[in-house]
Amino acid sequence: MFKSIILYKTQGDFAVTERVEAEVVVAGGGPGGICAALAAARLGKKTVLATDRPVLGGNSSSEIRVWTRGATGAGNLYGEEMGVWGELKLRNLYLNQEGNPVFWDDVLLEQVLSEPNLKLYLNTHISGMETDGKGRIAWVSGFQMMTEKELRFEGAYYIDATGDGSLGAMAGLPYRMGKESRDTYGESFAPVEEERATFGSTLFFFTKREDHPVSYIAPDYAYPRETIEELLGKGGRIANEKMDGCDYWWFETGGMADTIREAQEIGLELKRFTAGVWDYIKNSGRYDADCLTLSWEGNMPGKRESRRFITKKILTQQDILEHRAFEDGAFYGGWYLDFHPSHGFKTEEDNCTQIPVQVYAVPLGCLYPTCDSNLLFAGRDIGVSHVAFASTRIMNTCALSGQAAGTLAARCIELGKRPGDLEAEEIQGVQQTLLRNDMMIPGIRHREERDLAREAGVSSSGAECRGALLETGTFSLSDGGILVFPRRAAGTEFLVESGQTTEVSYQCYRSDVPSRLALGSRVGTMKTVIPEGKSWVRFPIPEGVADGFITLEFSENQSVIFATGEEQLTGFLLGREDSPRYCYPCLKLPDGCGLYGESNVVNGYNRPWREPGSWMSGPAFGEGGEFPWIRLDFQEPKTVREILVFFNPDLSRELNSSRASMWDDHHKFLPRTGMPPELVRSAVIDGILPDGSRREIAVLEENWRRTWRVLPPDGITVTGLILEIRGTYGASRAEIFEICVY
Ligand SMILES: Cc1cc2nc3c(=O)[nH]c(=O)nc-3n(C[C@H](O)[C@H](O)[C@H](O)COP(=O)(O)OP(=O)(O)OC[C@H]3O[C@@H](n4cnc5c(N)ncnc54)[C@H](O)[C@@H]3O)c2cc1C
Repeated sequence: MFKSIILYKTQGDFAVTERVEAEVVVAGGGPGGICAALAAARLGKKTVLATDRPVLGGNSSSEIRVWTRGATGAGNLYGEEMGVWGELKLRNLYLNQEGNPVFWDDVLLEQVLSEPNLKLYLNTHISGMETDGKGRIAWVSGFQMMTEKELRFEGAYYIDATGDGSLGAMAGLPYRMGKESRDTYGESFAPVEEERATFGSTLFFFTKREDHPVSYIAPDYAYPRETIEELLGKGGRIANEKMDGCDYWWFETGGMADTIREAQEIGLELKRFTAGVWDYIKNSGRYDADCLTLSWEGNMPGKRESRRFITKKILTQQDILEHRAFEDGAFYGGWYLDFHPSHGFKTEEDNCTQIPVQVYAVPLGCLYPTCDSNLLFAGRDIGVSHVAFASTRIMNTCALSGQAAGTLAARCIELGKRPGDLEAEEIQGVQQTLLRNDMMIPGIRHREERDLAREAGVSSSGAECRGALLETGTFSLSDGGILVFPRRAAGTEFLVESGQTTEVSYQCYRSDVPSRLALGSRVGTMKTVIPEGKSWVRFPIPEGVADGFITLEFSENQSVIFATGEEQLTGFLLGREDSPRYCYPCLKLPDGCGLYGESNVVNGYNRPWREPGSWMSGPAFGEGGEFPWIRLDFQEPKTVREILVFFNPDLSRELNSSRASMWDDHHKFLPRTGMPPELVRSAVIDGILPDGSRREIAVLEENWRRTWRVLPPDGITVTGLILEIRGTYGASRAEIFEICVY
């Protein structure tokens, strides 16, 4: 189906030039490029993904081994990025629970190879193109190592996901490298004067403990141990025998150089430094490192920053911190504004400064230039200021930008329009496609006219209305804490024990999506009396807060202890601002609050937004042979061609490509040790035929996905659908966020 024509042979018998026709051509196989390519291909566009490495994943690949992080890692609860990237991360969790970076490569390759509309070209460095000189590209070309082929890719749209923005630069599109001045966008975190400096690059190593001593003689180029000793300890830079891989994110240099033109020098400097650190760990006599050796050492520097393009909209600090809404909002970010010193490991400045942010929207306008171009951007080269980039550069956000770019390209091809010429409803069409494919756009509901579920009557075997009563643990306020609950369930009673009658005061915050670090808008200070002994306690909130999540912030209290359990009710969490270890409070829901009612599955939100937004069955899964079910009834028979069901993979816990060893204190990260208990593992959908009989439409077994997509062959005419949940990965309740029927 991919037409590939040999155009001519060059240089005797050495190289051939081959033409490949596609609709969307994506350059760069990192998070941005993979998601762009999969998104465009899944929307039916003949897509090429060309990357210059032998493996997919960009910085997350086993060649570099940066672990994927995002909004949840920066404290945003229920913030885990889904869509195409979420599917890859869940597949990784299913196949690769140890977080081995080598198997992450396999996951990416597997999904790319399984996509019929997508053709992958590895080892292909795009280095040429023909343009009209104004931004429109006729073709791009790249040399593929090992095949001696010069490949010429022709498409209607091109997506630059190279990180460096190589296609944009070749096309002559305007870009920036370095930091804008404070006045450029009025950003208080920007330097007063503009600077050419960027974030630097990094090489990692992984260690392994043998059962016998292993010697290490450093190569001549290694930094001497004295130099390493001088650098260590400054600005939080630590190294020891327990650290591995991403723990060494602070091995950073090159920010004061040109991260593109001087990439080789930066890489060699990093080799000198990493060899020096390893020599120091092995041979300084300060560590228990006799039996330690290196199991892997990086050679391909991970590059943090290079070109950022001048696009229709440049995202800024204010857009992020004020959670500005955009008519063309397309995806979201939620990582910290995470600034690294450009001098890298050679400075005494803190190795990073992280300012927590709440989930914020990023518009389509950041993905395309203002001129008449058929080039879009994805990943770290999109149009953001350096300050905003400090957040958007995180891989999960880069991946979401890729899905948005792939979707936008596909739609522009269908409409025969440039992105900047799309009418409001065409932009809404792109947004609805993104939402249907499991993206989140802050504040925008999934509302498609053709979704038959919207008009259906919804009923179920029962919705959770009591609460989580089973007590298995405790959470003390001795170091303070935060309690999150939905405004709609403000009368909830929590099981609390106190050694004495005490008055507890707390700050109250409101947010659309809760966060343990950027708590939201402060709405007041309240207090409540906790009686001596164990009792059910309500925590009143100020009047006038109509909706959203409420976060209560408690200061230290030595006598108050919350009872906790294993049952997670989405929307309720207890924890501390400085830790990702959340507890699930024992609680009694207020009568009639209807928090987890059936109608939530057709409310247009496929994840928590202002409230949990899910249907949750009562406990006692499968008791007496009865499985929880939810049912849609149409007013008249409908022909159903597609059903989408969105499950809960616990969006408050990170899904990572790989792991570092110092996970908790150092990274505020809690590794998953198994599939999320809440995720539905097996289920069945039956159709109710017009004659009233039931017919099985689909069976799901060993599910690992967040979205179950059912395509009844040739469609099926039904008056209703019944979804029966047969099993989860451990949760005693079944939970569904959204059901769509087309
Ligand atoms: C050391 C370090 C630590 C970081 N820490 C984290 C972290 O903990 N978690 C996190 O999520 N993010 C982290 N980041 C940021 C994150 O890794 C990057 O911002 C992200 O990978 C960018 O994604 P991307 O798809 O735009 O580009 P990349 O991941 O850089 O992928 C681009 C791909 O395109 C290829 N390519 C480049 N030029 C061409 C060309 N001309 N033709 C064909 N292919 C080309 C590259 O080889 C690469 O494979 C870190 C980055 C670094 C360097």
